[in-house]
Amino acid sequence: MRISDKAAFIIERLENAGYEAYAVGGCVRDSLLGKEPYDWDICTKALPDETKSVFADLNVIETGIKHGTVTIIIEHEPFEVTTFRVDGDYLDNRRPESVKFVRNIEEDLSRRDFTVNAMAYSPARGLIDLFGGMNDLMAGRIVCVGDAKTRFCEDALRIIRGLRFASVYGYEIEENTARAMTETCELLKNIAAERINTEFTKLLEGKNCKKILTDFTEIFSCFFPAFSTENWLFAADAAEEACEPKLRLAAFFCTLFPAETEVRNALHLLKYDNAAIKFICSLSSVWKDALPGNINDMRKALFCTGYETMSSLAKIRKDAKAQKLIDEITEKNLCCGFETLAVGGHDIKKLGVQGKQIGKILETLLFAVMEDKTPNNKEELIKYAENLMEGGNF
Ligand code: ATP
Ligand code: MG
Repeated sequence: MRISDKAAFIIERLENAGYEAYAVGGCVRDSLLGKEPYDWDICTKALPDETKSVFADLNVIETGIKHGTVTIIIEHEPFEVTTFRVDGDYLDNRRPESVKFVRNIEEDLSRRDFTVNAMAYSPARGLIDLFGGMNDLMAGRIVCVGDAKTRFCEDALRIIRGLRFASVYGYEIEENTARAMTETCELLKNIAAERINTEFTKLLEGKNCKKILTDFTEIFSCFFPAFSTENWLFAADAAEEACEPKLRLAAFFCTLFPAETEVRNALHLLKYDNAAIKFICSLSSVWKDALPGNINDMRKALFCTGYETMSSLAKIRKDAKAQKLIDEITEKNLCCGFETLAVGGHDIKKLGVQGKQIGKILETLLFAVMEDKTPNNKEELIKYAENLMEGGNF
């Protein structure tokens, strides 16, 4: 197993100060799979204050002292170092607020969710794998640590986490674990939407998302606003077909809910952020429309609907012709918005126009440019505007 130099440095320093320490959780799993871990979490016997004094010469942030976590910054890279701990009492099937520090790694590993996530590694002590995590990793299996039903009752978010890992790694969910998921899924109603949506979004980005969404529809219906099962299956397909992660969420919601208001309500209930809601609703508003087939219609669509929405729609539909039109517009820097129109409000004002009329004239000019009725240069546009005014159009 390979470990990053900086993580190894932290572990070694803690060990030299007399505190057992390991890389743990997701980074061990990913590293064993030959993937570059997203971040390196470290766990140690040292209490947070002890960790702080071991790294007194470095920048140490008290990220979650209550939970035993401090963050050590090495050359701008953050490393979370957490004291061995177990969770306090579980209330309402949610992760507890309080934790209890323990003095050995075994207890810490036993509170973790799945066997593949419950391994620790240190260069000096090797791999600590108490629950057959390595075996399950190689077999491609998601298995709870301990009794599955008990673990899901403690914290129901683990159900969605399990589905997320199965989707991302293309793994099976072991039979007992899968049954316990279905038996306890109602408890997901007690889980904060923000926690669910982080896992759900990652699930959608997984290579096996269609299979997981299809095989476990009942579980999703516990926290999703009402949906038609038929649409759910189409949406699962649409998500897996979408090529980019961000587009998967959009394709999924736009297919699941036919009306923009339903899409908005669902995203809102699931506490997606405003940027995501805005983007997905804008796509939903043109979801069933045909894509423009010529360059001028595409320019108008880019203006009316927005570049991001139109290019996303073209990508989701895998419409090469529409994508080419957008590329051509970008390459030639063709005007499709007020920013690139060769005249502005002050130019029109000079013609003696006032108030709202200025905006109306500018918009008419913009459409004239996009329809190739006039070149986009100042002189021609002023002439065009004067003609409009003389014609009594304004
Ligand atoms: P990712 O690669 O997405 O970060 P991860 O496994 O590191 O995946 P995190 O949410 O970062 O996931 O959690 C780190 C570790 O903490 C997990 O590997 C697991 O051991 C443990 N863990 C996280 N959430 C839970 C939970 N709800 N119940 C039990 N253990 C958990
Ligand atoms: Mg992680």
